Amino acid sequence: MKALKNLFWKLITFSGLPWFIREVLTRNKAGILLYHEPTPKNLEKHLKFLSKRYNFITLDLLVEAISNKDWSKIPPKTLVITIDDGHQSNYLLLEVFKKYQVKPTIFACSQIVNTQRHFWWKNNYPNHYELKMLSRKEMLKKLKEKVDYFPERNYKDRQALNLDEFEQMKPFIDFQAHTCFHPILPLCENHESKQEIQKCKTDLEQLLKQPIKHFAYPNGDYTQREITYLKEAGYLSARTVKFGWNMIETDPFQLPILSSNDDISTDKLSAQITGIFNFIEKIVSLK
Ligand SMILES: [Zn+2]
Repeated sequence: MKALKNLFWKLITFSGLPWFIREVLTRNKAGILLYHEPTPKNLEKHLKFLSKRYNFITLDLLVEAISNKDWSKIPPKTLVITIDDGHQSNYLLLEVFKKYQVKPTIFACSQIVNTQRHFWWKNNYPNHYELKMLSRKEMLKKLKEKVDYFPERNYKDRQALNLDEFEQMKPFIDFQAHTCFHPILPLCENHESKQEIQKCKTDLEQLLKQPIKHFAYPNGDYTQREITYLKEAGYLSARTVKFGWNMIETDPFQLPILSSNDDISTDKLSAQITGIFNFIEKIVSLK
């Protein structure tokens, strides 16, 4: 079945449809890709493939173009790479980004990086998906009961990037905000959501000694309330996980993405970032 699926994505690539969409239909739109913990090998495969077909820009440049309503600095066929959470293994990607001269944005959780604290979903809890439906309080109660997890506990092993790694990566990688502890923001109380948004910015500014301007919603979840808090805190943009292209009229606080997959084949990636992926997958249920 896997071979069949691969063949399917290859056929899509060879149909010329991705080429047509990239070169003609979406030529002047910008795409954002989302990763979490890709291996250097997979990332290199993707960047090798994409750098022959697309131009990479920074998130800063994209948000500036949208905010100023001036697309003149945006090259055609543009992509921005973003990576969520601030996982320790992201450090291993540095050489690949340098090699392809791509400056990605890593959205980091400010109270997990540079500590031995753990991400709430990286443990043996049987069903993390179910936790995403609970209020913050209920969620933490369950995690404490079942796997003895506390957000503020320092564990023996480290899951997130530390300051030494940040310092080495800083000239080549843009670091931005992804809350303090990665809660599902719409399930938080007002004061919790506000604090997660505001404190993350000041934490990271203190740690990295540079301004923090952009945000990514944990799990892609947000409401109008979060947008209000982000604006109050002085952020300039926020990235979602909704599918779509970024254009001059895109709301900077609801930036969409084209793909979120650490280890797909380049054929599938090529199809996915044209948008036909969503359409076809719905029909054929190939996932
Ligand atoms: Zn995340």
